[in-house]
Amino acid sequence: MDCVFCRVVKREIPSKILYEDDLVLAFEDIAPQSPIHILVIPKKHYSTILHMNENDKELIGHIFMVIKKIAKQKGFDEKGFRVVMNCNSHGGQTVFHIHFHILAGRHMHWPPG
Ligand code: 5GP
Ligand code: ZN
Repeated sequence: MDCVFCRVVKREIPSKILYEDDLVLAFEDIAPQSPIHILVIPKKHYSTILHMNENDKELIGHIFMVIKKIAKQKGFDEKGFRVVMNCNSHGGQTVFHIHFHILAGRHMHWPPG
């Protein structure tokens, strides 16, 4: 399967990796939308959140614990940050391997564009 984030996991595409364990990889976004812009992905391929099911609940919980860990390690936990997942066309999804965006380092706007 030709998936850009599966290729990041396999190190076929270089990226700045910030965190890795058996299930999850976190790396810097190639086109940052804020001073800190990190992507957190499951290593296993899911095209969209709609492809996850009951068995994946633990994985999603784990990803949120990884997000918390990164926020604390990078030191943007106190000032704050935003976590986003886009789904399909109206959500603005462009890479069809699920990922959480962590945006930090500036005030975020609401509502988002
Ligand atoms: P989406 O629009 O699907 O929510 O987000 C996809 C994100 O992946 C975008 O923020 C984009 O900049 C990032 N991205 C796309 N290709 C690559 C890549 O090859 N490496 C990295 N590090 N980020 C990528
Ligand atoms: Zn993939």
